[in-house]
Amino acid sequence: MTLTIGVDVGGTKVAAGVVDDHGRILEKVRRPTPSTSPHETARVIAEVVDILRGRFGEVEAVGLGAAGFVDESRSTVLFAPNLAWRDEPIKKKVEGEVGLPVVVENDANATAWGEAKFGAGRGEDHMVLITLGTGIGGGLILGGELYRGRFGIGAEFGHYRVVPDGRRCGCGNRGCWEQYASGNALVAEARELARVSPALAGRLLELGDGRPEGISGPEITEAAREGDSAALECFRTVARWVGQGLADLAAILDPGAFVIGGGLSEAGDLLLDPARAAFQNALTGRGHRVFADIRIAELGPDAGIVGAADLARSR
Ligand SMILES: [Zn+2]
Repeated sequence: MTLTIGVDVGGTKVAAGVVDDHGRILEKVRRPTPSTSPHETARVIAEVVDILRGRFGEVEAVGLGAAGFVDESRSTVLFAPNLAWRDEPIKKKVEGEVGLPVVVENDANATAWGEAKFGAGRGEDHMVLITLGTGIGGGLILGGELYRGRFGIGAEFGHYRVVPDGRRCGCGNRGCWEQYASGNALVAEARELARVSPALAGRLLELGDGRPEGISGPEITEAAREGDSAALECFRTVARWVGQGLADLAAILDPGAFVIGGGLSEAGDLLLDPARAAFQNALTGRGHRVFADIRIAELGPDAGIVGAADLARSR
């Protein structure tokens, strides 16, 4: 039995866990991310590692999953939109502080690895992970290996353009998939409906305290579960974009399974049923090929910790 520590470094929190070789988290620690200071962020990572090591002495290595672009040598965070990291040599810094080998990986890649090894992608060598949240994160397992691309920053599916000159995206381009198929896209859809057609969106507005801005993901899911037609329409709209995007990815990658995580995945079949229908309608060569399975992720928000820890084990 070897133990490693996985650390998920996000824009708001640093979550770390001691993980065994079956992907089980034995203990977890969380701290807020001091996101404006690269130095303080490294210090908090070292702090959570030290706390966990104090309880489980025999830790072998540390895996960091970071919300940003990680270079191909898995040492440096090139750019992190929600952290102050720019060309941050985080591997060297944390190794210097904790005295253990450190592996750095993009957080969605770490999540994909966790799901492929211990979660919904078990036994599937060709798997695409999509997280639908604020934006869209992606990770790719090809032939049983994590695919990083030549420069370490592949599988950014959220930013492939689905609408020429479409909605603006935080990345600087227009028409990116995540502007149409993410959790934020669902909320934008519902708020727009509530503004333009308040009579149709009565139940959504009621759940949102009477204001379009009061409507967020959980309210839309609740209304849809009750059978509210406006909420269901919002889900259908976003799910069509999800299914269409997965069909395009299948045309390129031909995976065995798509594993869907992130906040929006908590809606389960409300999302998956229309997404599957859209996928099967849009897939090239349909009728003459196997439909890839589309399923919900199993490890939840801990997948990044589990995946990063396992990548550190097999470094
Ligand atoms: Zn974009």
